[in-house]
Amino acid sequence: MKYVSTRGAAPVLDFDDVLLAGLARDGGLYVPATWPVFTPEQIRALRGLPYDQLATKVMAPFVAGCMTEAELAAMVKDTYAGFTHPAVAPLKQLGANQWVLELFHGPTLAFKDYALQLVGRLFDHVLKKKGQRTLIVGATSGDTGSAAIEACRDRDAVDIVILHPKGRTSDVQRRQMTTVLSSNVRNLAVEGTFDDCQDMVKALFNDHAFRDQYNLSAVNSINWARIMAQVAYYFWAAVSLGSPDVSISVSVPTGNFGNVFAGYVAKQMGLPVDRFVVGSNSNDILTRFFETGKMVADGVSPTLSPSMDIQVSSNFERLVFDFLGREGAAVDRLMTEFRTTGTMAMPQGAWTAMRELFEGHRFDDEATLGLMRSLKATTGETLDPHSAIGAGAGLAAKLNPSSPMVALATAHPAKFPDAVEKATGVRPGLPPHLADLFERPERLDVIANDIAAVRNYVIDFVKGRS
Ligand SMILES: *Cc1c(COP(=O)(O)O)cnc(C)c1O
Repeated sequence: MKYVSTRGAAPVLDFDDVLLAGLARDGGLYVPATWPVFTPEQIRALRGLPYDQLATKVMAPFVAGCMTEAELAAMVKDTYAGFTHPAVAPLKQLGANQWVLELFHGPTLAFKDYALQLVGRLFDHVLKKKGQRTLIVGATSGDTGSAAIEACRDRDAVDIVILHPKGRTSDVQRRQMTTVLSSNVRNLAVEGTFDDCQDMVKALFNDHAFRDQYNLSAVNSINWARIMAQVAYYFWAAVSLGSPDVSISVSVPTGNFGNVFAGYVAKQMGLPVDRFVVGSNSNDILTRFFETGKMVADGVSPTLSPSMDIQVSSNFERLVFDFLGREGAAVDRLMTEFRTTGTMAMPQGAWTAMRELFEGHRFDDEATLGLMRSLKATTGETLDPHSAIGAGAGLAAKLNPSSPMVALATAHPAKFPDAVEKATGVRPGLPPHLADLFERPERLDVIANDIAAVRNYVIDFVKGRS
């Protein structure tokens, strides 16, 4: 499989180089040169397979030419063996044709584990084959950092440094990162804000000499391999409900548009999906886009669903690319307009076509708490604030009631105990594998909000590792 950039001006790459590159050199995102298509017979043959075998079949075309299906299968099996539910991604029935796909049975209790746990293993595999090492540097306000650390811990060819704002993450979030004592992991508590952390990470990446010397990589949500791994659970849910002979709709709580874009990929591959319903919190740039055809950046305000507190949905560019006829130059013009003015308008035809497939619904914090309360009362299900927004969007969409609607649950309720308790009156407990989280020893280094200090720290760490 070959990969092209959404801006059309970066080298065409194979899967292994796309994995390591992250962002394309022309500023675009990598996507497969063509979508692989499964016949209805091939989709039918996925029914009844265990999760890891189904996921291997779905992902195999994307890595073709870089590894064998047997190599991929071994990594995928190892990835999901550590998940705590025997089904990996259980599909639960909430109502007559209403389902929830639980994507929170990985080590950090968020759906990001389903992709990142595999991405860590893919990095190790590809780097070892190339005889290279990499250093992953990232900033987190809480959630992504722990999933990235869990994915990279104890990997031979990978070192990872995660910056978080000191004292500004929840205790659970911090401990999920700082109780990982592996020798290839470092946590930096920066005396500053999340934006300070992110600015310092950007500065390290923009220092090209530094970036090349230490072979810097990122595992952020624009990495194609993350999307690829997420495509699998759309197939998993749909074939469980009778696809390809039944078509489903899905509702997805959305921030950077990575998760729902993976569903769009599944549809391009032949999976019958009628509609994608996007849920947002009051940071609703996507919902406004689907309503108006205009992308208008606004400020970000903190909500009960912090993983969706975004100003811009970075993966949306991949959808724009497809709906502009895969013309990189046209994407580049729109994205440049957006970056310089904070606004862009899709051409009318492209927007109309998008609306055939997508719609958005927004829920502010009060509405989110109301959803959590009413879903608990009517279905018995306790959902975290993100998952509740996804499920609420699915209900608000008022689609054909005879077709299954699958809501993606993206975090375990115990990750957001305060909000869950506020909504339902019951404080959810951590699952057994994290029950002793507060007794485990922590390791972190406090560091000044100073790029030179961070840079020196990283250099010393890498010296000590090689
Ligand atoms: C990251 C995250 C999201 C948003 O997913 P995107 O792929 O960025 O759209 C939603 N819910 C939770 C719990 C998350 O961690």
